[in-house]
Amino acid sequence: MKLQYWGTAAAEGLPAIFCRCETCQKARERGGKNIRTRPNAMIDGVLKIDFNADTYQQSMKYGVDLTDLKYLLVTHTHSDHFYPNDINMRRQGFANYCGNKTMLTVYGSDKVMASILPMAEAKSMAGLLQGVLVQPMEKVQIDKYTVYPVRGVHAAAAGPLVYAITDGEKTLLYCHDSGPLPDEVFAYWKENGLRFDYVSMDCTSGCSPMDYDAHMNLERNIAMRDRLLAEGLADGKTVFCCNHFSHNGAHSLYDEFVEIAAKEGFITSYDGMEVEI
Ligand SMILES: [Zn+2]
Ligand SMILES: [Zn+2]
Ligand SMILES: [Zn+2]
Repeated sequence: MKLQYWGTAAAEGLPAIFCRCETCQKARERGGKNIRTRPNAMIDGVLKIDFNADTYQQSMKYGVDLTDLKYLLVTHTHSDHFYPNDINMRRQGFANYCGNKTMLTVYGSDKVMASILPMAEAKSMAGLLQGVLVQPMEKVQIDKYTVYPVRGVHAAAAGPLVYAITDGEKTLLYCHDSGPLPDEVFAYWKENGLRFDYVSMDCTSGCSPMDYDAHMNLERNIAMRDRLLAEGLADGKTVFCCNHFSHNGAHSLYDEFVEIAAKEGFITSYDGMEVEI
């Protein structure tokens, strides 16, 4: 399974769109991996995870023609993960398919479907867009991938889902966005015999302490990693990656964070990073 990170920041980007803090200024000066766009990912060039306002530019940067995209799995409706206005550009009039229409199926919670289903009903979207409602703890088959969704500990109004995705050989846990997950989630993963080869975790607050539950920092990532190992949901070969960074987190700049995370046994995402799971 090949995972490519298209974007790796939190909602405001890094540098943040309207910010002149020290971290954002350093990111602008240093460039490279310190520049993070909003979070999106792609699996095997087939299954897109999330679709935000940066997806358009990212698709060109990574050489992907989205015209033929068939599968889109949405984590939640926050704007850094879901920008339905651009999905609406699939309709006839905005797009010319030259006779070769592809149906894009969007998978997500009821909050995601609230945007997708009315859009899919339009005549100009016929054969181009459909939605499939995903419920927590009800697995769904997408092409060769079996997806195990659980409710994320995140803004409930955004319908957050955390996805475990397996192709039968390798298994990815894509944990964005969420705070620490409750006991029943670990029980669900165990009941389903899952063992993760790769874990991508919300590290919004970097090395800063946290006093709220909707996201994680490095300390919480370590605690989650240790629990996954203790419960037999991961093993010594599992790769753990910190992803989804805000400029507000201490040492959240790639150049600084990558070394701190490595000491704890984590890799650090950057825009464009490809991993073979
Ligand atoms: Zn986010
Ligand atoms: Zn800033
Ligand atoms: Zn969010």
